[in-house]
Amino acid sequence: MSLKERIEKELDMLREQERFRVLSETGKREGAFIGSEGKMLLNLSSNDYLGLGDDGQLRGDYLLAFKPGSDSDRFSMTSSSSRLLTGNHRLYSELEESLASWYGRQAGLVFNSGYHANVGILPALASRHDLILCDKLNHASIIDGCRIADAAFKRFRHLDYDHLEELLEGSRGTYRQMFIVTESVFSMDGDLADLQRLCELRARYGAFLIVDEAHGVGAFGDTGQGLCEASGCGESIDMVIGTFGKAFASAGAYGVMDSMIRDYLVNTMRSLIFTTALPPLVLGWSKKVLERQRTMSEERRHLHSLAARLREALRENGLQTAGESQIVPVIMGENEHAVRAAAVLRDAGILALPVRPPTVPENTARIRLSLRADIGWEDISGIPEILNRAVGTGEKSWF
Ligand code: PMP
Repeated sequence: MSLKERIEKELDMLREQERFRVLSETGKREGAFIGSEGKMLLNLSSNDYLGLGDDGQLRGDYLLAFKPGSDSDRFSMTSSSSRLLTGNHRLYSELEESLASWYGRQAGLVFNSGYHANVGILPALASRHDLILCDKLNHASIIDGCRIADAAFKRFRHLDYDHLEELLEGSRGTYRQMFIVTESVFSMDGDLADLQRLCELRARYGAFLIVDEAHGVGAFGDTGQGLCEASGCGESIDMVIGTFGKAFASAGAYGVMDSMIRDYLVNTMRSLIFTTALPPLVLGWSKKVLERQRTMSEERRHLHSLAARLREALRENGLQTAGESQIVPVIMGENEHAVRAAAVLRDAGILALPVRPPTVPENTARIRLSLRADIGWEDISGIPEILNRAVGTGEKSWF
């Protein structure tokens, strides 16, 4: 079979299984709403947890500071070079220093994206004589990093730290260094890692602990550092990773760590070295949003109270949900069911996209409701009933 024939066959199979994806153009954003096929829909499919993504005031303040002249390179839209050549604008140092002092750590390091961070960090740190232990439901970018790394790699059952401990115990003495890598807030179930327990295991086995807070930053912790702050164990985590593209309404990612580890990554991390640096305009914006979001503890409280109320109402309506964060899944099983539930919500003015395998395990297709702090209970209170009605009516009894 030729390459084209094989590709055609695979695409047909994806279509049959309702797994064929297209890049649909997004419409105009207005606060929590987004244009789609001529309608404005409440956007519960973004990661804009604090509602800063369309904060016109903040954006205006930032851009109005631009003045042609000596300092205008802070607003440049390109860095034209890798950080190790001429792309390392002084805004990098400002941002990294403010991250380090905010987390109370020796150093910060900014990456082009969370994907760049995750595919680069483990391959740089872990090598042939090492072992990486990875939560089974970690994000694809972490899994890719584990695969690229030249180290042994095992997955432990999702959030099953007894299983993790068994693997650590069984591997003690066999490897030069063991690494544990986990998300803090898991993006598909909205459930949380037990960071205290992970820190205990790290200490007991001398493991190097990496926590990806992509969905934790902005949403958890008094100042928005993430679940590490809320759990009070940030200093015992060897590397905390945060992304700027979600609650922090910008682009890029960062890690906070010891200075020596930072120096090592700057010298060895391929996805940091062999890519063009972020534009200064983006770095300056990240810095601005970080400062703003630190003060948003009231919004964080509101976000979590919305999530708790929604979970309760979903259960009261006989729907299956999980987790304990601002990400609220409604698990339906079959792909077709999730696709149709999304259509019912769309008719009701709510954009909540279906999530299907391979993003989630087979038979756990779901609607994922990503809540945001710029909405009220009245915006989402109808969702459980809408889904419940869809369950109960003959033709649509497909949950
Ligand atoms: N880590 C996790 C847990 C994520 O969910 C994502 C993005 N969905 C990433 C990393 C990648 O981050 P970015 O979008 O900045 O590449």
